[in-house]
Amino acid sequence: MDKIWLSSPHIGEREMLYVSEAFKTNWIAPLGPNVDAFEKQLSQLLNVNEVVSLSSGTAAIHLALLALGIKAGDLVLCQSFTFAASAFPVMYLNAEPIFIDSEKDSWNIDPELTEKAIIDSILKGKKPAAIIVVHLYGMPAKMNELLKIGRKYDIPIIEDAAEALGSEYNQRKCGSFGEIGILSFNGNKIITTSGGGALVSNDSNIIKKVRHISAQSKESAPYYLHKEVGYNYRLSNVCAGIGRGQLEVLHDRIARRREIFNMYKEELNKIEGISFLDEASGVFSNRWLTTILFDNKIFKSGTNNKVRMELEHQQIESRLLWKPLHQQPVFENALSYLNGVSNDLFENGLCLPSGSALTNEQILKTINCIKKIIT
Ligand SMILES: *Cc1c(COP(=O)(O)O)cnc(C)c1O
Repeated sequence: MDKIWLSSPHIGEREMLYVSEAFKTNWIAPLGPNVDAFEKQLSQLLNVNEVVSLSSGTAAIHLALLALGIKAGDLVLCQSFTFAASAFPVMYLNAEPIFIDSEKDSWNIDPELTEKAIIDSILKGKKPAAIIVVHLYGMPAKMNELLKIGRKYDIPIIEDAAEALGSEYNQRKCGSFGEIGILSFNGNKIITTSGGGALVSNDSNIIKKVRHISAQSKESAPYYLHKEVGYNYRLSNVCAGIGRGQLEVLHDRIARRREIFNMYKEELNKIEGISFLDEASGVFSNRWLTTILFDNKIFKSGTNNKVRMELEHQQIESRLLWKPLHQQPVFENALSYLNGVSNDLFENGLCLPSGSALTNEQILKTINCIKKIIT
């Protein structure tokens, strides 16, 4: 019996073609035609001027902070309810993350708390240097409100769209709103390059700087000349070949993830006390992962973990929602602005198998198992 995984890679038919091309032409490294084509396709998809493909989403956030001049001691507002990779690069720079809780409509960074944190920081004598906004599980954050705050206080926004490739907010693609957007093509994401990421911006100076420092900050000279610290963060031409093939099927992958969400919702929404996260008006989610919440007035606390463990016995992988970063030991010294939302989500939520390669039978099996566990 095959295990039902949360979100496995789902390769199409043409990835191998582009990878073979790289081998045939010996464009194994550095960079090459697959990288150029992948970046061009991505910039067209997101409708942004330029994209730099990189070795990971985490590297992209690191470079985004560097490109914005973030340095030791600077304050960076981060979403608490997310994967730690969203905030780790702040630590690489010895800058200081301040964690902001989520609002209930999208589960992303709360604009009101964000503004409160900015006002407090300014009163204490230091304006935050950047805000990292996440579109969690593919659900767009409240960009109108957040962009307004960014403009009002003149603070740049980095959009962590690692989970939200193809998601839209008011008919614009996630990743294209902030001064800088970042994407991830890690193996569990909606499309993958086996490992990779990208940085997106309309600002040609930012792109120039990122291209430069992502490839060891080599100056043009007949010898190796470096005027600043460099990083080895570029995506290989082989991996970009996988990405080209994956981008061709992105549309189908999103359609399938949304179909899977609808299958779960149709069946499990009938059960009193289970709820789903709906799209607000103007919002289109790629539904990277389907998540459910158990109402703790109807279900005992810990039901999410009980369901997770029993699904595991049936060879079905599910996962608790992100443990908020303000609760993580590694960030224990960080300041946070809380409203209880992310703690609640962590206590009561569960991510269900959502990979686009899953069959209807596998989804139905998961649904039936959940029904049996909770009734
Ligand atoms: C996956 C992910 C990242 C990191 O991307 P990698 O490519 O794995 O380094 C960052 N932020 C969020 C929200 C993610 O889900």
